[in-house]
Amino acid sequence: MAIMEQRRRYWEDTYLTEVDTEVVAAREDPGPALAVRDGIVHPKGGGQPDDVVRVDGRLATVSKDEAGIVWLAPEDDEARAEVGGSVHVAIDLQVRRQHAALHSAGHLLDACVLPLGFTNIGLSHTPGQAFLLYDVDGGTLPTDEESKAALVEEVLDRARRLVAADLPYSAEVDGEGVRRVTIEGVQTDPCGGTHVRSTADLAGLAITRVRTKKGQLKLSYTAEHA
Ligand SMILES: [Zn+2]
Repeated sequence: MAIMEQRRRYWEDTYLTEVDTEVVAAREDPGPALAVRDGIVHPKGGGQPDDVVRVDGRLATVSKDEAGIVWLAPEDDEARAEVGGSVHVAIDLQVRRQHAALHSAGHLLDACVLPLGFTNIGLSHTPGQAFLLYDVDGGTLPTDEESKAALVEEVLDRARRLVAADLPYSAEVDGEGVRRVTIEGVQTDPCGGTHVRSTADLAGLAITRVRTKKGQLKLSYTAEHA
């Protein structure tokens, strides 16, 4: 199966939650699963978890193989889908909104931390455990509670101003197939995740913990979809 047969619709529209679509491949190993033409399901990657998805009403697990094909494996595989047939694929909108908000907040907070002299070396956008991890790159690692609080306030102050500015997120796939996501006037990063429409879609931005270990800065954070 050519990967071109599977369209990444979640790159085009974060809020597309259901589709009737053609089954373009089926497999038995390592377990029954199907691949569909219209990919509205985000597979785990880049720090963002899988969507919660149903195929013809049945919960399904999501995986991505080495060729980049997204496979859906319905829990109950009694009713096998035929290649060339049609299935209804639906994702949980609340979960998608939460993932998109956390992910988009990660970009936004990162853009506020980098100018303070740090370089990003790790991240997660998983609900309840989202974080950004940095090496020091000209900045100063906060050493006590007071300086940690000051850093948090500086980052959040910048972030709140960007939220108030209502700046759109946009995405473009370049000639080499790399998708680049831009917060207008703020930052462009390679990214394959789902994003909110604008910084104004973000609410409840908070940095919940600051840790400094081995010369690194780890900021745990949370955010919601407005
Ligand atoms: Zn992203």
